[in-house]
Amino acid sequence: MSQRPYIVGNWKMHGTRAMLAEARAIDRASERLMTAEVALAPPFTLIHATRNEASLIGVGAQDCHAADGGAHTGDISAAMLKDAGASFCIVGHSERRADHGETDAIVRAKAEAALKVGLGVIICVGESEAQRDAGNAEDVVLGQIEGSLPTGYNADHISIAYEPVWAIGTGRTPTLEDIAAMHQAIRGKLVSLYAEAGANIRILYGGSVNAANAAEILAVKEVGGALVGGASLTAEKFLGVIAGAPDEALD
Ligand code: PEP
Repeated sequence: MSQRPYIVGNWKMHGTRAMLAEARAIDRASERLMTAEVALAPPFTLIHATRNEASLIGVGAQDCHAADGGAHTGDISAAMLKDAGASFCIVGHSERRADHGETDAIVRAKAEAALKVGLGVIICVGESEAQRDAGNAEDVVLGQIEGSLPTGYNADHISIAYEPVWAIGTGRTPTLEDIAAMHQAIRGKLVSLYAEAGANIRILYGGSVNAANAAEILAVKEVGGALVGGASLTAEKFLGVIAGAPDEALD
């Protein structure tokens, strides 16, 4: 498995076809920035066009339905995403857990649906500010992993994104020590669930990553990449984040 950091842009509910120029610019520049594995998760409506515009970067989705198909108005199945050109799917983002009441069980079912059709998954977990203040951050996050992570699948296709809810879109980040401690704890849980394969599952950090802090965050032990929201919306900002990937990843 590649040891390069996996840097994934989550465009959330941003982007019309006018934004394809940003995807194109990110894709072109990725050829030079070989220190990272780069991907974008645009809205559903842009997946196919982004795949057509970009030949180097990964293209994925921000969510899928757990069912193969059926009477689910407005939803999108994992097979449809694959057909549109996606190679991975984010599941369990805190905005979906909050806005759509997604439980760990739902997130796990979505992850299974995506894995079954051959998509990679990025499973998001993260504590609220109140949970951190109460000293429960680690228990919450490890509980989410236990509840959301499917077992019995190829671990190479699974990544975790640790995203403290209070750090998303706020400009605030945990200390590097806190990031290191949580990623270490997550690694322990992954090994307990997936045995040796759990040692290779990439653990991304997400929450207010930008060009100014990417290098120090990506250098933290057990940080295998970043899930990036706001700073992925323009090529200029996202390439600044990607430039933070350590050179030794190429060794
Ligand atoms: C996210 O929503 O996944 C995220 C990390 O957002 P931001 O980078 O804007 O904090």
